[in-house]
Amino acid sequence: MTINNDDVIKWLQTYDQVITENKDYLTDLDSIIGDADHGANMHRGFQAVVTKLPGVQDKDIGSIFKTVGMTLLSTVGGAGGPLYSTLFIQAGNRLNGKMELTLSDWAEALEAANNGIIRLGKAAVGDKTMVDALTPAVQTLLDASKDGTSFEEALHLSADAAKKGMESTIPLVARKGRASYLGERSAGHQDPGATSSYLLLKTAADVWTK
Ligand code: ADP
Ligand code: MG
Ligand code: MG
Repeated sequence: MTINNDDVIKWLQTYDQVITENKDYLTDLDSIIGDADHGANMHRGFQAVVTKLPGVQDKDIGSIFKTVGMTLLSTVGGAGGPLYSTLFIQAGNRLNGKMELTLSDWAEALEAANNGIIRLGKAAVGDKTMVDALTPAVQTLLDASKDGTSFEEALHLSADAAKKGMESTIPLVARKGRASYLGERSAGHQDPGATSSYLLLKTAADVWTK
C-alpha cells in the first residue's frame, strides 16, 4: 500500500472533524492543567487548514504538509500552534516532491516532525507533553518499516503506541508548558497535546486502512 495526495487530504479533513467532535474534551483536559484553550486552538487551526486544502490538493505531499504548517502557525498561537506547525513543516520537508508515501517515508517524516518538536520545545519523553504520544508512535513505525510489517498493520500499531503514550502522561508531573506551573498538582491528569497527537495518528490509521 502507498498513500497518495488524495489520502493525505482525506486524513486532514477527517482530523478536522475529529477535532470538532473532541473540541470540548480537549478543552476540558486543558482546563484542568492549562488554560482551557487547546480544543478551541486546534479547532480554529484545522478549520483554517480545510479551507486551504482545495488550493493544494494536486501538489506534492510535502507542499500540502507545508501549507498546513504555515496555516497553523498563523492561526493557532500559544505553545500548541508553533509545535503543531513544526510537526507539519518538518514532515513536509522530508516529503518534498513526493506524490506517494511508503511506510518508510511516513516513519521518517514523523521522526523528523517529532525531532523538530523536541528541538523547539525542549521536552523529553516523560515531561508530560505531546512528545510522550509521538515518540513511541515514531519508534513503532521505524521498527515496522525495518522488519517488513505491512503499512496498514504499522498504522494500527503506531496509533496503539500513541494511545499508550498519551495514557502514560496521566501520572506524570509536567516539566514543560503551562501544566508545569502546577508542579505536583499536574499529576493525575492526561495531557491535552498528547491527546490531540494520539487523535492525529488514530485518524491516519482509520482513514488510510479503510
Ligand atoms: P497553550 O499551552 O499555549 O495554551 P495549547 O493549550 O494549545 O497551548 O497546547 C498545550 C499543549 O502543548 C500541552 O498539552 C503539551 O502537550 C504541548 N506543549 C506545551 N509545551 C510544550 C513543549 N515545550 N514541548 C512539547 N509540547 C509542549
Ligand atoms: Mg492551552
Ligand atoms: Mg493558551
